Amino acid sequence: KYTSNWLPSIDDMNDKIEFDISIAAPKGYQAIANGKMKLKMTNYNYDLWEYDMLKPMSSYLVALVLGKYDKKVEFSKSGIPLEMYYYPEDSLKFEPTYRYTKRMFDFLEEEIGVPYPWQNYKQVPVHDFLYAGMENTSLTIFADTFVTDSIGFNDRNYINVNAHELAHQWFGNLVTETSGTHHWLHEGFASYYALLAEQEILGDDHFYWELYKTAEQLEAQDLAGSSTALLDPNSNSLTFYQKGAWTLVMLRDKVGDNVFRNAIKAYLKKHEFQNVTTSDFLGIVEELGDLDLTEFAYEWLRNDDFPFDSAMEFLKSKSTFIHEYIMADCEALNSKCYDYLTSDLSDQAKIKVIQQQPSLVNKQSFKNSLKVRQAIALHLYRVPLELKTEYESLLNDESYQTIEAALFHLINNFPEDTVRYLKKTKDIPGFNNKSLRMVWLVLAMTSDNFSENETESYLEELINYTDPSFGFEVRMNAFQYLHYIRSCEETCQKNLKNATKHHNWRLQKLAKQLLKENQ
Ligand SMILES: [Zn+2]
Repeated sequence: KYTSNWLPSIDDMNDKIEFDISIAAPKGYQAIANGKMKLKMTNYNYDLWEYDMLKPMSSYLVALVLGKYDKKVEFSKSGIPLEMYYYPEDSLKFEPTYRYTKRMFDFLEEEIGVPYPWQNYKQVPVHDFLYAGMENTSLTIFADTFVTDSIGFNDRNYINVNAHELAHQWFGNLVTETSGTHHWLHEGFASYYALLAEQEILGDDHFYWELYKTAEQLEAQDLAGSSTALLDPNSNSLTFYQKGAWTLVMLRDKVGDNVFRNAIKAYLKKHEFQNVTTSDFLGIVEELGDLDLTEFAYEWLRNDDFPFDSAMEFLKSKSTFIHEYIMADCEALNSKCYDYLTSDLSDQAKIKVIQQQPSLVNKQSFKNSLKVRQAIALHLYRVPLELKTEYESLLNDESYQTIEAALFHLINNFPEDTVRYLKKTKDIPGFNNKSLRMVWLVLAMTSDNFSENETESYLEELINYTDPSFGFEVRMNAFQYLHYIRSCEETCQKNLKNATKHHNWRLQKLAKQLLKENQ
């Protein structure tokens, strides 16, 4: 937010100017900034890069990336270059990481109804980023933990963040809040349009499911007494993002698709490259819909509580899937519960049943989808002998999360087969955060099944993951495991001290806490 800390500029969102950035950078690096690259000049000891923007923006959207990258370029239907950057060693992860990018771009441009406002759209993964992503104008930066292979894609992928930051290019970057009071005009809108893009690709059930989950979270926040109004500048992310998205869902339901889409278009056109307030937006909806939104604004924008009942009514009326999910309930076991896991109930409903009553899992239950099988791996801790073979088959699933949980539970339940399980999973790469690999190392080290030499090399590998060259998530995992097995000595201690000064507050906090506990 405070760009003036690193670049002479004015930290006021209301002051929009055109930024044309020139960068003198060491040779061998790619320099990426807002706008279009118009010149790269090689000097005797550095490269000079010049980027050109055509339109003004607020200074918090200025960005600069320097690194070693390759890129692939696709073009949107409307001809906008979509530049997707990746680390040279990650070429095989390119496709799953950026999957659906062009489709989502084309969809959003069509759905929003206003052409993408900038010269190109660049996306760049970076190391140790503070957030999931940041929507700098024409240059989205995202955490490289989203870079994934096709197996990790099933567990955790970039789709939602990809769509969210893209939507900001209109909502936030083209029209910008005048102050934090209107922050939902950024985050609520970006979350809403990301959800629409996901609906386009993943279907209606996914759309209503995501809304259902956030409604539950918002209701929990109400019950905890910590809800705030959407127009309160001190609201938390859950409120700005999810209550904001819900507000647009309900507004669209109230005024109809036509009025809603025309209003969005008119709002963006009227205020392009300027700053906006909530009344700027609602005023246009009222005018085009010829209606009064005072009551709606009170319920959704000014009131602290989330209108949970209206939200549920909406979901149940729109989605038989949600209706069915709510009805399938085995908190108190009833006779129907015995059939649920082999019925044609949705995956989500089956997962709920497994969470509530893991003992209902039988051989047939393993014939379900990847997601349901994952729920078995996560929630069935005590594996009955008659399910051993089926449970072992979870180690073949295309999900690192499933494999990790299954490996852990199998070794706990059948310690006599430890070596077999460890051999089978030895070379599975796992997520970028190395969590599967570290579980493997710790299980191998503590199992007494390997020679001293082997155990030593496993410990060395684990200690190595505390090194600053690894991402903060990897290091946090490694520190915690080493602490747990009481093996954080010299190198680990040195790296731990070093981590207390890291810019990522989560790593910093953990490092301080572990150091304290060690004393
Ligand atoms: Zn956002």
